Amino acid sequence: MTTTSRSQKSMIAAREVYGLVKSYYQEMRQAREQGVPVVWYSGQAPVELLEAAGVFPYLIEQYCPVAAAKQLAPLYLDAAERRGYSEELCSYATVPIGVALEIDNPRFHHANGGPVKPDFLVTSHFLCDQRVKYIKAIGRILDRPVGVIDCVHNIDIEEPSDIKQYHLDYYVTQYQELIRFVEQQTGRPYDMNRLGEVVEEFNHGIRLFMAGLEYQQSVPAPMSASDFFAIMFPLFVRPGRRETTEFCGRFHDEMKARSEQGIGAVTPEKYRLMFDGLPMWFNLGLLNYFEEAGASFAAFTMYIDRFIELDPERPLESMARRELLNHINSHALRRIEYVGEIARKFKLDGIFMPGFESCKPIYVHQEELKRAMRGRLDLPTLSFETDFLDERYYSDALAKSRIDAFLEILEERRAVACMP
Ligand code: SF4
Repeated sequence: MTTTSRSQKSMIAAREVYGLVKSYYQEMRQAREQGVPVVWYSGQAPVELLEAAGVFPYLIEQYCPVAAAKQLAPLYLDAAERRGYSEELCSYATVPIGVALEIDNPRFHHANGGPVKPDFLVTSHFLCDQRVKYIKAIGRILDRPVGVIDCVHNIDIEEPSDIKQYHLDYYVTQYQELIRFVEQQTGRPYDMNRLGEVVEEFNHGIRLFMAGLEYQQSVPAPMSASDFFAIMFPLFVRPGRRETTEFCGRFHDEMKARSEQGIGAVTPEKYRLMFDGLPMWFNLGLLNYFEEAGASFAAFTMYIDRFIELDPERPLESMARRELLNHINSHALRRIEYVGEIARKFKLDGIFMPGFESCKPIYVHQEELKRAMRGRLDLPTLSFETDFLDERYYSDALAKSRIDAFLEILEERRAVACMP
């Protein structure tokens, strides 16, 4: 039996997200009632492009943390595995398959009422092929059409100047084909001007959000890890909307105020850590375990890699640039540079990298990354095998003993550094 618990949030903006998530599900139901097409898409598919299409884009992977936090993920995993889907699949793929299989089951308790059935689905090969496979499986289960964007795994781009026109053309052609697919499904011509407006709004949100995030350099850091993983929701899942920009403004102002008043998420802040990867959503309380020992997560690597301004005049090309430069869609050196840059900026004492064996895009470079962080930046790293959603791969006792040992190392290093 795994011991799991919820996390404590310290920021007002983070506590606000609970209501925003609930509204997301209510709006999806309203969209269905009003005849607006509901589109399930996988992470990293171009949500801005869907937002501009007059449909309701629903990130089916957003349901994964919701279900895990409510301890429902095992039910969906079981539903999929009973139908022959392997336990070895990524749980971010298996849980949505379980959701699709049980969507009409009146005896199933779906968090927030669960998603409504999609009219069509959209996915992308970006970062990972499991996403395409699982979205296609859902398309078959629910008998719905699927639009797919092919994205080449980038092995020869380290700097923006390495991007060639043929790289951009390939992505742009894929986006154009997706637009044709969306037009066929909605029966309406796609409005490129609307896409420009969505991109403008997205940019406003990003500027406010990233300016707010700069205050995380303050000592103590104003925002905790559980705040961060909640606060990501509006900009990551609902970009290009006025409400999201307004939320980003409130986040910015709260970060500024906390920083100016010296309010930290963890007091006293003994160690500053980076969280590289995603949390174990079924046990966000583990984040508080770090914090109770004085360890604050001052820096993060996930989600913010998408918070790059796009060009409203050339939205498709700038979306292509964003994907081509993504640190996970690349070779180890780019990932090392990206993580190293953040580590230097936030003056860290160590890095926590949960080991998700089922997620090859994150896991595959982890050993090289650890070596590089120790060798180049003298930063100790903590890692142990676990899973984002599947508690069968998690041991609370083991996790806590590894955290204790890691914090002891940090304490010893501090003691040595203070020696005359
Ligand atoms: S393998 Fe990783 S990137 Fe792919 S669906 Fe799973 S969590 Fe997402």
